[in-house]
Amino acid sequence: MTGNDNITLLASGNAGKLKELQAALSATGLLLQPQSDFNVPEADEDGLTFVENALKKARNAALYTGLPALADDSGLVVPALGGAPGIHSARYSGQGDVQNNVKLLRAMAPFDGDDRRAWFICVLVRVASANDPTPIIAEGYWHGHIAKEPSGTSGFGYDPLFEIDDTGRTAAELSPTEKQALSHRGQAVRTLRHKLEH
Ligand code: IMP
Repeated sequence: MTGNDNITLLASGNAGKLKELQAALSATGLLLQPQSDFNVPEADEDGLTFVENALKKARNAALYTGLPALADDSGLVVPALGGAPGIHSARYSGQGDVQNNVKLLRAMAPFDGDDRRAWFICVLVRVASANDPTPIIAEGYWHGHIAKEPSGTSGFGYDPLFEIDDTGRTAAELSPTEKQALSHRGQAVRTLRHKLEH
């Protein structure tokens, strides 16, 4: 064993993600390091599914560093819109979060009731090496509805439009701890931890 045996590359440069994932995975002994520390080039996210894109990011990080790697991919799926914004969630409008929400509200205008169903998905993938034939894959889902208007100021992305229950509260009205307990990301991290420990 060397001191580096537990280092896993995080296939993301997002400091918030690093902090959140490191805290959730600390009990597993994994030490996450952002791929920006190793000048890893961005992977092509040209898969058709969240799992393909997470796998591509993880393999790419492992390929360029020779280290085990962890990647995530997430987004919002709206069945009434044929699954959009889906794997294109981050770049749905091409103009950032506020415009993404404006575009989503406009697209939902013809839909009422159950047709406003939506879910967030998060996929985490951990590979031991670039060619690992048995990646560890953990998914989390969060079911809700698209609200008729935004409310709440916490969180990010589509949180102000994501109604979590019958009270009409949105994800943007939750504290970070409440969101972590319910969210797709929180569930995926807990599943990954379980799989790494067993
Ligand atoms: P990423 O791949 O995890 O960086 O997220 C992709 C995109 O999906 C984000 O830019 C958001 O638009 C959306 N998204 C993912 N998770 C959430 C969430 O927890 N709340 C709101 N939007 C989210």
